[in-house]
Amino acid sequence: MTDNEKLAELLFPDITLTPQQYEERYPARNLPDGARVTRFAPSPTGFLHIGGLFAAMTARLTAKATGGVFFLRIEDTDKKREITDGVTEIVKGLSAFGITPDEGITGFDVENGAYGPYQQSKRREIYQCFAKELVRKGLAYPCFCTEADLTALRERQEAQSVNKGYYGKWAACRNLTFEAQSQAVEAGRPYTLRLRSPGDESRRITFDDLVKGKIEMPENTQDIVLLKTDGIPTYHFAHAVDDHLMRTTHVVRGDEWIASVPVHLQLFKCCGFKPVKYAHIAPIMKEENGGKRKLSKRKDPEAAVSYYIEQGYPKESVIEYLLTLANSNFEDWRRANKDAPQSDFPFNLKKMSASGALFDLQKLNDVSKNVISLMTADEVYQAATAWAQQYDEVLYRLLTANEAFAKGIFRIDRGTAKPRKDIAKWSEVRDFVTYFYDALYTPDYTLPDNLTPAAAAEILRAYLNVYDHTDGKDAWFARIKELCAPLGYTPNVKEYKKDPQAFKGHVGDVSTVIRIAVSSRRNTPDLHAIMQLLGEEKVISRMRAALKFYEEA
Ligand code: GLU
Repeated sequence: MTDNEKLAELLFPDITLTPQQYEERYPARNLPDGARVTRFAPSPTGFLHIGGLFAAMTARLTAKATGGVFFLRIEDTDKKREITDGVTEIVKGLSAFGITPDEGITGFDVENGAYGPYQQSKRREIYQCFAKELVRKGLAYPCFCTEADLTALRERQEAQSVNKGYYGKWAACRNLTFEAQSQAVEAGRPYTLRLRSPGDESRRITFDDLVKGKIEMPENTQDIVLLKTDGIPTYHFAHAVDDHLMRTTHVVRGDEWIASVPVHLQLFKCCGFKPVKYAHIAPIMKEENGGKRKLSKRKDPEAAVSYYIEQGYPKESVIEYLLTLANSNFEDWRRANKDAPQSDFPFNLKKMSASGALFDLQKLNDVSKNVISLMTADEVYQAATAWAQQYDEVLYRLLTANEAFAKGIFRIDRGTAKPRKDIAKWSEVRDFVTYFYDALYTPDYTLPDNLTPAAAAEILRAYLNVYDHTDGKDAWFARIKELCAPLGYTPNVKEYKKDPQAFKGHVGDVSTVIRIAVSSRRNTPDLHAIMQLLGEEKVISRMRAALKFYEEA
């Protein structure tokens, strides 16, 4: 036995499986050529960030576009930072937006797939097996340096103005003899396991990032920590082992990891793994005071995906919006394929912007209004009711008390060639339906500046005299037009514009008065449909109440 082999046995006496056995347990996946295997690998250390959802969506689309597999792995090696329900939050957050993994973690302590466990805390022996192999090959060694030793090292390096870190001649434990190592281990001294980096600072590495393009960086020379003193791997080592054994082909992750690629490629090489391909995506940015900054978990409520759920954005809207950020050609595609499902979009990683996309809530609202405008009244009813059940009890009761009536509201101006785009999120539904429900309705008879209460009273008095609830839409409008001339208004807007002095106003003003009397709004969808749904009695009593108000004003 060589000293390295003896050291490997000394450090990992309980590890009996060999890397070869793991290679056989997790064989190459049986997928068509070009199929990509991707993953989302969050740490359960906080709420799911919109950037996380974006990364997960991108990874999933990449897999789907190539007939591959997308899986969810939980990176829970840092138990100190983990939050209660962290895993459940991630799974729930993803599934709320339809980002369902093909494989991996599917709930708290539940997973499916042949490449697990998919939770790093359950893979300790696997990491140790590969760590042991590195020790056998002389590519890893125990480091007994304490925090104080490392601080002292940093100070010496600072004083001499050299690169900081644990490398080359500065790596005190790199060349300990086997005797010294075994004595220290037997004496119970805590140690980390470090890579014996084969890197050379004069060499550079290059790799083709699928989003950022070709990147060149100095080779890694640091003897990075592979296993911490408790035997738990660092992110770097776990990434190499997991993505190799889970047969990931493409790692889609945040671009804060680019700086670590030299370490990662070196680890793949030292372990004898085929390297993965990387796609580093830029963070989602927010505009502030003319500048750009990352969306912040602390400052921006919209950073958490729970915000979109609470506000009641349909999942399709959020994904549709994220798609506009992901691929700049998405909007053109959408214009040409108005009704196509999102899954038909030919997503391409290479078309992602290399710099951070700006997150714009206004744009999300516009996208969402469009998405909702294409839904049927039944779909809107279902989704709005489901949202209200959680977040607005009063609205929930009203909508469900008379389903046909509620669906009638959502049917107005919907299903036409030019559907109305007025609702962006379910939390806006209450405001949208107030005038249909007395329980929500507070009259507000404020008139536009060009109309006086006396004029409004005159219009309402005349209209009440001729109102016929059985009128169809055309007859209804014809009747409003007929009202115009006797009252000094013109039914013809163009005519009014030509000579405004000749009239008190035009048909638009007359219908505005009626609209306000019925709904307290200056703007509504199809007023005839609204009046039909409200019913004759309510329409007349509302107009009478408004008339009284204007007469007394
Ligand atoms: N656990 C890492 C993180 O949450 C994952 C990075 C990766 O996708 O490799 O940032």
